Amino acid sequence: MYDLFILGGGVNGTAIARDAAGRGLKVFLAEQNDLASGTSSASTKLIHGGLRYLETYEFRLVREALIEREVLLNAAPHIIWPLRFVLPHHAGLRPRWLIRLGLFLYDHLGGRKILPGTRSINFEKDITGEALKPEFTHGWEYSDCWVQDARLVVLNAMDAREKGAEIRTRTKVTSAGRAPAGWDITLENGETIQAKLLVNAAGPWVSEVLGNVVRQNEAAKVRLVKGSHVVVSRLYDHDRCYIFQNDDGRICFAIPYEGKFTLIGTTDLDFDGEPSRVEISEEEIDYLLKSVSEYFNRPVRRTQVKWSYAGIRPLYDDGATKAQQATREYVLKLEGAAGEAPMLSVFGGKITTSRKLAEAVLEKLKPFTPEAKAPWTSRASLPGGLAYAQVDSYLEDMKKRFTFLKPQNIERLFRAYGTRMELILKDARFASDLGKSIGPLSESELQYLIDNEWVTSAEDVLWRRSKLGLHMKPDEIAALKDYFSAKAKVKPKKKAKA
Ligand code: FAD
Repeated sequence: MYDLFILGGGVNGTAIARDAAGRGLKVFLAEQNDLASGTSSASTKLIHGGLRYLETYEFRLVREALIEREVLLNAAPHIIWPLRFVLPHHAGLRPRWLIRLGLFLYDHLGGRKILPGTRSINFEKDITGEALKPEFTHGWEYSDCWVQDARLVVLNAMDAREKGAEIRTRTKVTSAGRAPAGWDITLENGETIQAKLLVNAAGPWVSEVLGNVVRQNEAAKVRLVKGSHVVVSRLYDHDRCYIFQNDDGRICFAIPYEGKFTLIGTTDLDFDGEPSRVEISEEEIDYLLKSVSEYFNRPVRRTQVKWSYAGIRPLYDDGATKAQQATREYVLKLEGAAGEAPMLSVFGGKITTSRKLAEAVLEKLKPFTPEAKAPWTSRASLPGGLAYAQVDSYLEDMKKRFTFLKPQNIERLFRAYGTRMELILKDARFASDLGKSIGPLSESELQYLIDNEWVTSAEDVLWRRSKLGLHMKPDEIAALKDYFSAKAKVKPKKKAKA
C-alpha cells in the first residue's frame, strides 16, 4: 500500500513526488511516456516572476515566483542561471511611467540577493541597441532566470527515487477506482497498485483522466491554451534576452538559445484537440516572426527557422475572455466525501512555482498523512546541484582535472549533470577511457543516462535530456538511433545461479 500515487511525470508530478518522498511518504509515480514529454519540455524555459502578470493584478503569484527564482537558482545552478531581459520602450504602447512602476514592483516584491536590479538603457550607447531599429532609443534591463525545463523534471524524479519513490515511465494509468482502504490503480500492463491517496498531475490531460480514468462525470474546469516557439539561427551577438511588447497587448521573447540560436516565443491560443498532437501553425510562425521583426533592424525570415515546438498550458478556467488573460495561478482541487479515499487534481501552475505547488499539495493532504515530516525542499539541492557561488570554481577544477576535454565540452556536461558529471567522467585520463562516441556523446554518458535518467530512446536524449538534436549531424543522429535499437534487441542476461 503506497501513501501517494501520482499520475503524471511533468514538473508538477515529479516535484510532488520529490517533496513527498523526502517527507517519508511511500510514493509511486506513473508517467505514460517519457518524463517531461508533455508541457514541461515545451515552455519558454524561464524561471520568472512574470512581469506581465502584474497587469492582471496577480501579485500573489508574481511575489511567490520572484522569491522562487533564487531558491531554485541555489538548488540547481547547473540547469538554472540568471538572465538579463531588455525591454525597449515602444512609443505607441505602454507609457513609460507604467513600465517603470511595473519594474519597481518587480525589483521589490520578492527579496533579491543574487540577481541584480533594473537599469535604464540608452540604446544609442549600449550593445543591446545594435540589433534594434533606430526608433528604439530607450529601454530598461531587468533580471530573471533561465531553466532547462525538461532537466528540472528529471532531477526532481531522480531526487524522489533517491528518497525511496518508485518512478515508472512509459506506464499509462488506465483506470483508478475507490477501494475500501484507498485506491486501486490499474496500469496499462495490467498491474494494480494500491494507494491511500491519488494525485492527478496529468497537466493537459487532467480532465481526460477525471473522465476516462477515474470515471467522474463532473466537467473539470481546465482551459487548454496552446503556446508555440520557433528557433532561428542566432540573431545578435550578446547574452541578453529581449522582451518585446506586441500591439495586441501580448509580449514576445527573443532569447539566446543553445549557443548558435535564438528562441522566439510565444503564442496564446485556445486549444480543443488531443494534447499529444499539438503543433505550431503557419499563422503562429508568421505572428512570431512579425512580432520580433517590429523591433529588430533586420527582419526575421522563415528561412532562418531551424526548429519549432508547441505545448499546452493546462490553465484553471477562471472565465477570462482572452486566453492570454486566463490566470497562471495553480488551483488544487481535493475531492472525496467523508470516508471516501481522497483525490487531489492539479490545475495550472508554472515551472517556476512547481516546488511551491508541491508544498501546497502536501499541506492540503496533511489531514490524511499525519506521519509526513515538515517541508524541506526550500534549502535542498537537486541532484548535481551545488551552491550558486561555487559554480565558477567547480568548473575551473573540472577543466584542470579533465584536460583531455575541450572547455566547451566540460561546460556542456556541467550544464547537464552538475557535479554528477564526475559519475560519467570517473577517473578518465583520455577521451578513449569514456568508450566509443557518437558525435559529442560518449558511451559513458549514454550509459549514465540509461542507468540514471530513465532514457530508452534517441528522442529522449536529443530533445529532453539535452537539446543535442539541434547540434548533431544527421549521420550522428542515425547512429544514435541504431545504438538504441541494438540495445533494445539485447535480451537481459539471466541471473547466474548461486
Ligand atoms: P505536463 O508537463 O504536461 O505533465 C503531465 C504528464 O502527465 C504528461 O507527461 C503526460 O504524459 C502524463 N499523463 C497524462 N495522462 C496520463 C496517464 N493516463 N497515465 C500516465 N501519465 C499520464 N512556466 C514557467 O515557469 N516559465 C515559462 O517560461 C513557461 N513558459 C511556458 C510556455 C508555454 C508555451 C507553455 C505551454 C507553458 C509554459 N509554462 C511556463 C508553464 C509550464 O510549462 C507548465 O505549467 C508546466 O509544464 C505544467 O506541468 P505539468 O506537470 O502540470 O504538466
